Amino acid sequence: MKPSNFNLTIELDNHKSVLINTLTGAMDILPNETIDYLQDGLCNTNDEVAEYLYQRQYLLDADLDEAQLVQDLYGELLKHQRKITPLRGVIILTFDCNLRCKYCWQQYKVDEKNKLKLTRDKVDNIFISMEHLYSSLENKSEQPPIIQLFGGEPLLPENKEIIAYSLHKCSEKKWYAQITTNGVFLNDYMRIFEEFPVNEIQVTIDGPYEVHDRRRIGSKYEELMDSIGRLLQVNRIHTKLRVNVDTANIDTLPELANDIIKRQWYTNRKFYAYIAPLRDSSLEEPKLILERSHLLQKLMVLKERYPQIEIFDMLGWNGYQAVRVLENTGKMPYPRVNICDTNMNQFVFTPKGEIHVCAEEAHDPAGIVGYYWPEYVLNESSFLGWYNRSPLQLSNCKGCALLPVCGGGCQLFIKNRDFYGPYCQAVRDSLIGGIKNYMKQEKLV
Ligand code: SF4
Ligand code: SF4
Repeated sequence: MKPSNFNLTIELDNHKSVLINTLTGAMDILPNETIDYLQDGLCNTNDEVAEYLYQRQYLLDADLDEAQLVQDLYGELLKHQRKITPLRGVIILTFDCNLRCKYCWQQYKVDEKNKLKLTRDKVDNIFISMEHLYSSLENKSEQPPIIQLFGGEPLLPENKEIIAYSLHKCSEKKWYAQITTNGVFLNDYMRIFEEFPVNEIQVTIDGPYEVHDRRRIGSKYEELMDSIGRLLQVNRIHTKLRVNVDTANIDTLPELANDIIKRQWYTNRKFYAYIAPLRDSSLEEPKLILERSHLLQKLMVLKERYPQIEIFDMLGWNGYQAVRVLENTGKMPYPRVNICDTNMNQFVFTPKGEIHVCAEEAHDPAGIVGYYWPEYVLNESSFLGWYNRSPLQLSNCKGCALLPVCGGGCQLFIKNRDFYGPYCQAVRDSLIGGIKNYMKQEKLV
């Protein structure tokens, strides 16, 4: 027999360890002597311990080609995943933004030529291109596509007409409409939202007022909270509140949670709030990634002291996301077979007329996979370079026991491989810290 490549051992106190197979989702708490059976010399011991590890698939037949099995499994799961994930069109209305958030890595890229805005004709072409793209994909969902209006900041006062037009097109086609906004001009758009259906709006807030106003320069906490309150009155709109956290604002989460509780938003089933780690997709320095597992540990301690912060879900904590699934379902998740949205039927449309697949690098001509303006053209080889890249092909990730949990990080790391080190450490620490915390919470140790 031989050990599976996806065994992960997490040592606990009392001479015990948690053994997880990240591919099958098997998980056991075992004495450390049992874990020793996974070593090459001992795994052929013919006794009931080895038999148990074999039954749980931590040990495999010596002649089993696990790599081939994983390749086949990933292929099938990816097809299935694509068939249940609606086509997503992210429309960047403008790269321009009215705020100058202290941490924003995008603002220095907003020069005059990036202030270009969309026109009606371009919006028409985006909708036509979405139809072409849908037909060209082999595995796709039959659910209606999602259009996400994005920026920069999409809801600038001068964009009213084009926003109304885009929402009108969505409603005509019965497609799902989402908007991601900083929320400053939400009030000015209420009438448009009442007239043209919008299914979901995501607004970012950074903490209670003195923290929010200091970090998101140009946005006012009280006005923003009032606008969100109004949005929740518009019946059909799901309102998502995103809270970006880093070491500078994490301690203020209980205060923000108290305000949300005071406003009773949590009683509205169309309200959803989540905490995400602040990120910097410019890949210029890994400081924020390095902080991530420390932040997570801090959050766990805070949750014990301030249970009100449970009103926030947690998204974007790679490694810990698997623990969230475990907490909610009692099971480890299925393997993550795509790296990110770039290989899951997502297309990004810029005001210049380009098509990309990653919204975070839509400034960069290197990411162009086609054009929707002046007419639709898809560059198959650039597109497939992103779309068909499997986590199993990433040289850094081959042989990594965390691959089924992590999915291989970010396609942009391929341009700057120095990011793998800090990122992989963050994924590992977040998973291990999360599992230990889960064991404690469930009183399993
Ligand atoms: S990105 Fe790092 S942690 Fe994730 S699968 Fe690749 S090597 Fe493993
Ligand atoms: S390539 Fe990286 S930045 Fe782009 S969508 Fe994927 S994870 Fe995000």
